[in-house]
Amino acid sequence: MRYEIATSLHLGHGKFFALMGTPRSLIESDNRLKLAIQRSGRLTEDSLDLLRHIGLGFESYGQRLFSHCRNFPLSILYARDDDIPDYVGLGTVDLGIVGRNLIHEQDIPVVELEALGFGYCSLVVAVLRDSRISTVEQLLRAKIATSYPGSARRFFESMGGEPEIITISGSVEVAPTLGMADAIVELTATGSSLQLNDLHPIHTILESEAVLVANVASMSDPQRRQNIERLLLRIRAVHAASRFKYVMMNAPEKRLPEILGIVPGLKAPTIVPLADPGWVAIHTAIEEEVFWEKIEQLRTAGAREILVSSLEKLLL
Ligand code: ATP
Ligand code: ZN
Repeated sequence: MRYEIATSLHLGHGKFFALMGTPRSLIESDNRLKLAIQRSGRLTEDSLDLLRHIGLGFESYGQRLFSHCRNFPLSILYARDDDIPDYVGLGTVDLGIVGRNLIHEQDIPVVELEALGFGYCSLVVAVLRDSRISTVEQLLRAKIATSYPGSARRFFESMGGEPEIITISGSVEVAPTLGMADAIVELTATGSSLQLNDLHPIHTILESEAVLVANVASMSDPQRRQNIERLLLRIRAVHAASRFKYVMMNAPEKRLPEILGIVPGLKAPTIVPLADPGWVAIHTAIEEEVFWEKIEQLRTAGAREILVSSLEKLLL
């Protein structure tokens, strides 16, 4: 079968079928799962890394619109991130990897299967630093500039507000300085772009990261669901592994209760006696987030020769 590959990078979802040559047969005739990921942007590299880490074999170079996996019944579709919620919602694809902020913005019913631990950002309400506005209650009738009009409107309406929402697709941060708006609703990761424009956040509407989402009907189809669960098991194993470090250490046997209090392990640590009497080796997993804190406590509790390694997969 030959597909004609379009050169356009940005596909509106209506154009999607037309651009893929004989797409209906691709979409409907086989039992492969379809997964949409961002073609080119902040989520692309981490999405591809995740798919490679779970052992999927596929080509992703160049201007491809999709790839077939060699070793799993899955096709990967490269799309604009804004189109992914619709593709998943409509069933054009079974699965998508996209920022939670876009699912929230478009308010599309999909199943969130897993938060993936990358693409972290927050959707915030921000005002100029020297503004008299310090709470969102002061903005209920204000002018709000945003590229997330759906999220902004729902947020203020939930508070009984009726602000004027001004939708801008880029450089939202300059709107308050230009006098176009009293506040903005925008995504921020480090806050640097807000700072650069003399803005500061006064409220967080949503904490976001990349999520794996599924089409509702795909989840009720037994065969699709089985393959989705196989994929999910692998994704969870890689994701869990990235959250932990594997730690081996030697410690005096008599300090064991104290050490086990610091690192309770996933279930329980492995304890191996050493040739040196009174000493044991302890193997355990420590969560990345509290890693240095735990290592300091372990050293104080007498642990020595602490050896740390990364985990590749972790099936809990
Ligand atoms: P596309 O061409 O696919 O439409 P885009 O320019 O709209 O891409 P990106 O800027 O690549 O999108 O952002 C993709 C996603 O990355 C966002 O929807 C959000 O979930 C996440 N993200 C993480 N940090 C930030 C940030 N500082 N600003 C914007 N988005 C961020
Ligand atoms: Zn986009």
